Amino acid sequence: MNGWINLTYLIAATLFIVAFKYLAHPRTAVKGNLLGALGMAIAIGAALFEKPITERFASGGPINYTLIFAGIAVGTVIGAIMALKVQMTAMPQMVGLLNGFGGAASLLVGGAELHQSLAQGHAIAPFGQTIIATALSGLIGAVTFWGSFIAFAKLQEIKGFDKPWSFNGQQPLNALLASVTVALCIWQAAVPESVAAYWLIVLVASVLGVLLTVPIGGADMPVVICLLNSYSGLAAAATGFVIDNNCLIISGSLVGASGIILSQIMCKAMNRSLVNVLFGVGAGGGPKVAAGDVYAKVKGASAEEIAILFDSARKVVIVPGYGLAVAQAQHAVRDLANLLQARGCEVLYAIHPVAGRMPGHMNVLLAEANVPYDQMKEMDEINPQFAETDVAVVIGANDVVNPLARTDPKSPIAGMPILNVDQARTVVIIKRSLSPGFAGIPNPLFAADNALMYYGDGKKAIMELMTAVKEL
Ligand code: NDP
Repeated sequence: MNGWINLTYLIAATLFIVAFKYLAHPRTAVKGNLLGALGMAIAIGAALFEKPITERFASGGPINYTLIFAGIAVGTVIGAIMALKVQMTAMPQMVGLLNGFGGAASLLVGGAELHQSLAQGHAIAPFGQTIIATALSGLIGAVTFWGSFIAFAKLQEIKGFDKPWSFNGQQPLNALLASVTVALCIWQAAVPESVAAYWLIVLVASVLGVLLTVPIGGADMPVVICLLNSYSGLAAAATGFVIDNNCLIISGSLVGASGIILSQIMCKAMNRSLVNVLFGVGAGGGPKVAAGDVYAKVKGASAEEIAILFDSARKVVIVPGYGLAVAQAQHAVRDLANLLQARGCEVLYAIHPVAGRMPGHMNVLLAEANVPYDQMKEMDEINPQFAETDVAVVIGANDVVNPLARTDPKSPIAGMPILNVDQARTVVIIKRSLSPGFAGIPNPLFAADNALMYYGDGKKAIMELMTAVKEL
């Protein structure tokens, strides 16, 4: 029987790997998602018949399939409602929350296994695979759950969590807590029957998860999200060793490895330090400049004035940001681009790696509006082109075009590469006000000599600009 189960797990694992390949491109991402879900359904089905599970439950009573299917039904209903109801703009925090639940599930399964084994009088070998994996499930699961929970609160911009938070002595305290968890893990491994050790690991790791995530903000946030994603995979892989489930080990390792690779890619692209993010060292203390001084010279423009600029432009670059997602302006932006292209103007889209609130956010939105992929340019490709751009249209982007990243070493986005829109002949910035972006700092671009503000909701503003261009 177990031979068949393992073969089924192999099929599920192959589906996960193929799903990853498809997920790497917006055009094939939906297929990738479905293949991954199919793999998971097959894996869950096979897990219900796996021999160690049936054996284990048989010794403690029959498998309660009613309870299992009731759990699956409740989870399916909650998941479906969440997925259907969630706003596109709230997707990143939902993904963060689901990561956290993965960590919570790992720590609960690790704990339940420990309790059950002891209740059934099974001897657990000290310093053996099972007990080390159990301790790691508790440790990584708790850090993942609480870290993800804080990341959720930050992305949701819940009051009190919307700014990075740190205090004197936070780093030494983190180091102390990390040492305590290692000591507790050694205690757990040496004395497997010590249930107290397990729950103490969970408790201390929970505090560590909170303290490692609260100081993070600005340009470090995308990295910490990838890292927590990776942790949830590592926690699942550890739990796979606890319950001896090959598929959980494989899928957890895949998530763990891909998350850490993505974290490294993000760090490199965003000029962040992985070590700093790992140890909860926030980027900067905050702005040195006051918004009042920065915005003294801001100029606004009317739709007609901007239409005249478009009329004489030969090259326009559209720079989308989080506000594009909030305004759901992707279709309107594509219509404006079509209009300008029909008038002989070259239109490109500049994609910053952390624009929006999740990796690939802008690519997904623009792909939804059928923007051709060859018009979407990554930062390295588009930056040299701004100097020959007539009009850069920044729509709902703020931090990713903020020159303070170059000039203020104390800002939370210090050192992050930005889109060099300030090098375009004219920059038109569409947003509702002079409010800051995610990093919470003023943006001197808005007051630059070549910058014009056009205030309003992104979608409405683009439609007004289109009307003005047509009426010229
Ligand atoms: P920002 O958060 O910097 O700015 C978004 C701007 O959009 C705001 O200033 C807001 O101004 C404007 N806006 C909001 N709603 C609308 C609307 N309806 N119409 C028009 N404008 C609107 O976004 P960016 O994309 O520039 O930067 C992303 C930030 O998020 C970075 O700091 C990044 O580090 C962080 N982050 C990114 C993640 C990722 O993986 N991509 C994950 C976590 C964080 P106003 O209110 O005045 O309209």
